[in-house]
Amino acid sequence: MTEDIHHLSVTASPGGLLFECERDHCGRRVVIDRDRGEMVVIDHGDRSALHEGSLGGVVLDRPVVRQT
Ligand SMILES: [Zn+2]
Repeated sequence: MTEDIHHLSVTASPGGLLFECERDHCGRRVVIDRDRGEMVVIDHGDRSALHEGSLGGVVLDRPVVRQT
């Protein structure tokens, strides 16, 4: 079984960087507070999928966030 890879699009929001899954039926949403480096999952979406997205030195892996 191959792992599904979902791409996350990034928008700036008042609470930090908002990562949203581009798949219609997934709906994963994650907010990253750049000041504190914290990741908050708003909606888990498809838990079996691999979610990837990056912007401005923030790399989103599963389930780890690295700031470079
Ligand atoms: Zn997804």
